[in-house]
Amino acid sequence: MKHKFVFATNNAHKLEEVTAILGNRIELLSLKDIHCHTDIPETADTLEGNALLKAQYIYENYQMDCFADDTGLEVEALNGKPGVYSARYAGDAHNSEANMLKLIQDMEGKENRRAQFRTVISLILDENTYQFEGIIKGQIIEEKRGLSGFGYDPIFIPEGYHETFAELGDEIKNKISHRGRAIQQLIAFLKEQHNK
Ligand code: IMP
Repeated sequence: MKHKFVFATNNAHKLEEVTAILGNRIELLSLKDIHCHTDIPETADTLEGNALLKAQYIYENYQMDCFADDTGLEVEALNGKPGVYSARYAGDAHNSEANMLKLIQDMEGKENRRAQFRTVISLILDENTYQFEGIIKGQIIEEKRGLSGFGYDPIFIPEGYHETFAELGDEIKNKISHRGRAIQQLIAFLKEQHNK
């Protein structure tokens, strides 16, 4: 029987990405599937802290194995900003267009365009907590390019490519992305546990 995990997210796009990466190894339940309609507080000031808060919330309220992720775009010339505040960079509205516009403006005239997406996953399995990390390095460009993906995808070019995440499309993005890499770590760990 497949092991069931709750993925603590309300973001349909992320759920789709992670389901595609996990394939049929695991039965993934969303917050909607477990009838959790709470906006789980993300009040920590690190990605690690927020990922843990979300996973703990599910474990404490539903007693199910679960994992949660938190991602930030860390820009070198901005001392790691927007980082843990990536979703709210231009204000509280979680507005990707406004966030990108603010970042493009904040990066005006900056020569160092280096940045990285970093994802932290907190897993709670049989009452134990584990963390995994995935990083993709790249560059912030001056204008949006491409239509797929979400968030800052149209202004981020991953290392080794000439296209933005939004131009590369989901299949390539999933293979190389921060979230993809963190999920691969999670899968490797789960396989190890199953083989014990
Ligand atoms: P979250 O913690 O995964 O919800 O991510 C916080 C914010 O980071 C999102 O609201 C997006 O603005 C941005 N973000 C996260 N993952 C990605 C991605 O794969 N591409 C582009 N932006 C992302």
